[in-house]
Amino acid sequence: MRSSNESLDRAALRERQADRLTKTVERAYENVPFYRERLEDAGVDPSDIESIDDITTLPMTTKEDFRDEYPDGLFAVDDEELARIHASSGTTGKPKIVSYTDADLDVWGKAMARSLAAAGVEPGDTVQNAYGYGLFTGGLGFHQGAEELGTTVVPTSSGGTQRQIELAQDLESDVLACTPSYALYFAETAEEMGLNPRELPISVIAYGAETCTEPMREEIEERLGATGINNYGLSEIIGPGVAAECHEAQDGLHVWEDHFYPEVVDPRTGEPVEEGEEGELVLTTLTKEALPVLRYRTGDLTTLNYDECECGRTMVRMDNVTGRTDELLIVRGVNLYPSEIEHIILDVAGVAPHYRIDLHKDGSLDVMELTIEKDEQSDRSENELRDVILSRLQNVLSFTPDDLELVEPGGIARTEVGKVQRVYDHRG
Ligand SMILES: [Zn+2]
Repeated sequence: MRSSNESLDRAALRERQADRLTKTVERAYENVPFYRERLEDAGVDPSDIESIDDITTLPMTTKEDFRDEYPDGLFAVDDEELARIHASSGTTGKPKIVSYTDADLDVWGKAMARSLAAAGVEPGDTVQNAYGYGLFTGGLGFHQGAEELGTTVVPTSSGGTQRQIELAQDLESDVLACTPSYALYFAETAEEMGLNPRELPISVIAYGAETCTEPMREEIEERLGATGINNYGLSEIIGPGVAAECHEAQDGLHVWEDHFYPEVVDPRTGEPVEEGEEGELVLTTLTKEALPVLRYRTGDLTTLNYDECECGRTMVRMDNVTGRTDELLIVRGVNLYPSEIEHIILDVAGVAPHYRIDLHKDGSLDVMELTIEKDEQSDRSENELRDVILSRLQNVLSFTPDDLELVEPGGIARTEVGKVQRVYDHRG
């Protein structure tokens, strides 16, 4: 189940991208005063764009721009042409409002269907969609992609986990779509119900909306006896369906770059990095009508890989997101991403994949407290676990938390609805 667009010759793809970029810039320039002003400031006329490489001459868009233009300052169509509105929740202030025409919803459905097909999902499969429905794009995004692909959708939304597990058994769900933290919670709840989660009919977990390290994927696959496939997307660009792993390689997420053009830049300077180097992902929509977005700074850190993939798709692959620029923890001068800590914790036998990081101030000093859950099955002593974790953190990250607490299984609160929170910054 792969469309010919996904294995387009790269020269032909670049031509298509250039053509679509020109139209997108024209649309933004003609219909969005914000972009007209930015483009004029940058001295760019839409007719200047000759190749996709000219994208670097365009101004960038930030999440602050979405806030400043709240609610509809970035829309490029009249109200009558709008088919749907979604919003991404901000932790502070107003949400970012995003909009779609009928054609945008069509692109979204098709891109998400591609993602599910890449995961190995087939028409006729039953997809249990445990992403939250509502203004958040996760629920409806997966829903319409699953419908577009010709699967049977069970729109459970998030929460009600015992009932979800019973439904998965009774309806023989082949696919569970949810966040990675929820996949683990799902497994744990099944165990509490006296079931073996590996014996549930689910064979694919299509996860996304949170960063997920490789050891976390292994944990999900092991616990649920299913293939874990990473999905990537964000509301500002369209929602889920921007990029997805193929089940053949499970090695990087193919970006559907005939619709969303990816660049990687140095997060400090905004300048493009060398090919294969890590930096901040910047995305440009190439086909959106209601909300064309030029060079959006996602805040997500990744690398792009243009090597041929064993699945035959020619579209570039992005690495698992390793962190977000706004998640960077600076603790006593050491720069750390929560995902780096996660990587280390999950590699230690005897602890469960549940942890939290608390940051406090002691006078002018940063204090970091790390809480990790012990694994039920472990027979390692607490002192032994403590030594292993501390020495790994020190060796790999040159860092030691001020306090390391090991708690009993179940001692860290689970997230049943929404995205998991692991970092609690009390520094004000
Ligand atoms: Zn592939």
